[in-house]
Parts: sequence; C-alpha cells; structure tokens
Amino acid sequence: MKLDKMAEKLGFQQKSGVFSRVYNGYEVNLVAYKLPGAYVPMPMLLIVFSKTIDKDTFKKFGKVSGIRVFIKESVALKDNAILAYPSFKNQEKFDAFLEQKTKIFKELNLGQFDYCPYCGKEDTDSTRIIKGALVHVHDACVKDFVEKVNTHLNTVGNSKEHLIKSTIYAILGGIIGLIPSVIILYAIGFYSAWLFILIPFAAFYGYKKGGAQRGSFVMILIAAISLILGPSFMLFVYYNLSVYLEVTFSEMLADPEIAGGFTQDMILSVVFTLIAIWASWKSIYKQTHGQIKKDIQELNN
Ligand SMILES: [Zn+2]
Repeated sequence: MKLDKMAEKLGFQQKSGVFSRVYNGYEVNLVAYKLPGAYVPMPMLLIVFSKTIDKDTFKKFGKVSGIRVFIKESVALKDNAILAYPSFKNQEKFDAFLEQKTKIFKELNLGQFDYCPYCGKEDTDSTRIIKGALVHVHDACVKDFVEKVNTHLNTVGNSKEHLIKSTIYAILGGIIGLIPSVIILYAIGFYSAWLFILIPFAAFYGYKKGGAQRGSFVMILIAAISLILGPSFMLFVYYNLSVYLEVTFSEMLADPEIAGGFTQDMILSVVFTLIAIWASWKSIYKQTHGQIKKDIQELNN
C-alpha cells in the first residue's frame, strides 16, 4: 500500500514532509523504510525515544508489547528507536494499538525524543528529518556537528596508518572466505560459485581487523581482491585437475574439451564474483566514510 494512502487510513498528518501522529505524548512517524538487505522500501511505524533502549528494556518490550515485526533503529542517538509493521485494518484498530503500546512505553520509562541530540537542550529552533523521523534540533548545533565530522573525516581520510596491514588482512580474509568453496569442492566434487559471496565479506572483515581508515576507496580494494581471488580459485581447481591427470597445465588445455570447460568456468567465476561484489556492496558501503558523508549531507538540507 502506498504511504500516503496508509497515512490517510490511519489518521496521520503531514508535518514538515513527515507523516506523524501524536498519541499520549508520543510522536509516531509513518515512514518508507528499507529493511536490511531490501531494495524496496516498505511502510513502517517509527517511534523515537529520548534514550538508548538497553537490552533488558528491549527484551521486556518484546514480551509485553506483542508487536510482530519490530526492529531497533538509531535516530540521532544509538538504538533509541523502534520500527513496527503497520498492519491495521482501520484507524480504530491502530488507536487501540497506540493506547496499549504508549502505556508500555511509559511503564518502561521510554520518553519521547524532544530535545536537541547535539547539545541536549529542549528549546529547539529547527527540525531535521533523520531516517524519516522529525528530530528537533538547533540550527547552530547541526552546523557545528557537520563541520566537526567533515574536519574529522578529512583528517582521518588522509591517514595511511595500518593501511598496508589492513590490505594484507583483507587479502587473507578473502582467502579464508574461499575455504568453504574448497571444502565443498573436495567434499562433493563440484564447486558452488554462490559461495563466492563470502569473498568480499571476508575480505572486508579482514580489512576492518587491520584497523585502517575506511575511506570510499575500500570499496574498490575489496572489489579488486575479490576479482583476483574468485578466478584464482578456478585456476586452482584446473591446476589440481592437471596434477590429478599427471600432465602439465598446458598439455591439459591442449584437449579441446577441457579447454572449452576451462574458458567457460573462468568466465563464470568472473561473473559470479561480480554478482558477489554487487550483493555485498551495500552492506559494506554502509561501514565506510562514504555512508557517513552521505548522512551528513542529509543533515545539511
Ligand atoms: Zn542544540
């Protein structure tokens, strides 16, 4: 269902470009939200609280609330918001839901987020939309924050510290990511190119372990390592075949049938590595400076 249709059905008002409803002192937002790994946003309820929801509270909340799909999210503060799927037939049902849930929020001491997250003061003079929720801020605080983060990113972005270590770890990580492919190959005699998805993730994990900065170039590095390792694995498979056949590599490829299979498998290994890079791109990018810069850009608007 379209967001504006659902907003109308459930009694949301549009406020500064955000669908919102205030109930029992809590501001509930209706947002188009991309679930992790999803490419299409879906309508979700987003409720932002004034503090981090700790593990205990989250557990209790899950027990007593009975909300089917709910996810923790961070809106200007860490883990201070929840998302729930708005599966309500009409506004009456939704009101009953809000009546019950807002009581639980109060019992759990989860207050409405109503202060500037940058300075902690309440007399705000402006708003920003963060992850679809309206957040009350001071214009000066946002400006100051954006400037500080930019300065920090520029300083860190030029740092070469641990870069070599991280690159080596990334390569090692990528190789470790290939181990399941090797195991499967020896266990069942076939390779599963879908397992190539592990290469970029494992390489990035290695890179992080190395401790170097995460500028946008990390994406290129991970892609390059994956594109070398994926086809190398295929070479390794064919090299093993030549050892098994007790011929040299070039002697083996003199057989037109094997040569044909080799070409096909090499092309496929490149294709599957590219798919793996594509599939992992978003979640890796989220952990780089590229994402932070994008988030900061949104605050400036
Ligand atoms: Zn402020």
